[in-house]
Amino acid sequence: MNLILKKNYPRKFNKISGWGKTKAVDVEIINPKTIREIQDIIRNSHPKSIIARGAGRSYGDAAQIKKGKVLKLENFKEIFPNYINNEVTAQAGASFEEILRKIIPRGFFLPVTPGTKKITLGGAIAADVHGKNHHRDGSFGDYVKRVILIDGNGKRITLSPYKEDNLEINELFWATIGGMGLTGIIIEATFSIIPIQTSFIKEETNRFTNLDDLMKEMIRLDDQNKYSVAWIDSMNNNFRGILSRGNHATKQEIKKLKDIDYLSFNPHPFTKIPRFIPINLMNRQFVKIFNEWWFRKTPIKIVKRIITIEKFFYPLDAIENWNNIYGVNGFIQYQIIVPETCRYMIRKVLEKLNHINACSFLPVLKRLGKSNKSYLSFPSKGWTLSIDLPANNQKIDKLLEELDQEIIKVGGKLYLAKDARQSDSTFKKTYKSLDTWQKNKKILDPNCIFISDIANRLKICN
Ligand SMILES: Cc1cc2nc3c(=O)[nH]c(=O)nc-3n(C[C@H](O)[C@H](O)[C@H](O)COP(=O)(O)OP(=O)(O)OC[C@H]3O[C@@H](n4cnc5c(N)ncnc54)[C@H](O)[C@@H]3O)c2cc1C
Repeated sequence: MNLILKKNYPRKFNKISGWGKTKAVDVEIINPKTIREIQDIIRNSHPKSIIARGAGRSYGDAAQIKKGKVLKLENFKEIFPNYINNEVTAQAGASFEEILRKIIPRGFFLPVTPGTKKITLGGAIAADVHGKNHHRDGSFGDYVKRVILIDGNGKRITLSPYKEDNLEINELFWATIGGMGLTGIIIEATFSIIPIQTSFIKEETNRFTNLDDLMKEMIRLDDQNKYSVAWIDSMNNNFRGILSRGNHATKQEIKKLKDIDYLSFNPHPFTKIPRFIPINLMNRQFVKIFNEWWFRKTPIKIVKRIITIEKFFYPLDAIENWNNIYGVNGFIQYQIIVPETCRYMIRKVLEKLNHINACSFLPVLKRLGKSNKSYLSFPSKGWTLSIDLPANNQKIDKLLEELDQEIIKVGGKLYLAKDARQSDSTFKKTYKSLDTWQKNKKILDPNCIFISDIANRLKICN
């Protein structure tokens, strides 16, 4: 019998936190080796005691439960591509990087990817991650065809978007997409992949001296580009910015590049930030100098270039453990979405932060498209802004609380995978399909075995 199942076994606790390094807690980390073991753990656990964890790239307290069991799927990493059906079946512990290393050389890419490839398939489904193509292609959950889940009874079930033999949507599937691990442990999934001719992106970049011009141009150009994202200089009064958009390059388009392997993909981090940096290096002076350099290096006129998938999608992965740069206190990411008609809110948020001298490193602005059928997913039609800010700063905390109220008023919300601070009342006013999600949670996990610190903080399950 497994140690975990014995009564009164000595439990070993480790301190963990999210990517923002705030809210560290002691948890028991378990690395099950078999599905049977996962089922036994679930069947022999108390209510409110287990949560799954992927690569720990969510910023706040979503992949942890204080004094509880954190299940990691490091022994579940198998990947089975099916290039004839344009799909991959993989175990939930496989990372996007591992999947990409397999599929890119065979001429395929992920349908949706966030700004890091260091996440797991389980984490991507549980947060229903979005990328630079959401305005056209939706989020990762839109491409998932099948999920194998171990539910709160320890039962292995297969979920797909529609109920068998009819077109009625399968609520249990959509409660799991974006369900932040609270409906069960995802052990395997099948999702579509897209064909590519090369591992390069045809990118166009140019800079704008103010936010309004940048946003207008984003709207104008979105239909022409599969991928689109902007960086804003939050310390500039006009919120100048850089707009980058791109499309997969064809063989024809890169044939001028000499000695090139059309489908190469072998990224390595360029440097590593040490673990123990006592102070926050992202101070005002540093950010100001960096932003100035970043802006000036992009010419006013449009620059067209061919760059690798790695450089276009994952620039931050070049610096391993870059989150350590914020020092021991860590940082928070404030990611909001506001409806298209309320784009003035983006400027308002930036202005208010600027007003209190909150120093934020390259906020990212994206336009998102339609939401999907899931109940707790973040994306919906509108503008999303993500801003990294130092943690434990009273002035910033107070302002964000005020801003939350404005986000509620305009019908926006905060991204659960990034959140470490919103209140349960903000969450309940903004996630409007919570009731339907809770109904399905009760079916999949009647004894509420699965819980996390974010779920407790936001009272997601009750
Ligand atoms: C640099 C950086 C850039 C990012 N850019 C984006 C972006 O552009 N778009 C975007 O959407 N997100 C983005 N993110 C956030 C990230 O994609 C999500 O937080 C993602 O969920 C992290 O995956 P993970 O494997 O690290 O999961 P974790 O952070 O470990 O867990 C996240 C959630 O998934 C659940 N979970 C994990 N594995 C399983 C499983 N097997 N079964 C059930 N539940 C599970 C956890 O319980 C938790 O609730 C970014 C993060 C970083 C650090």
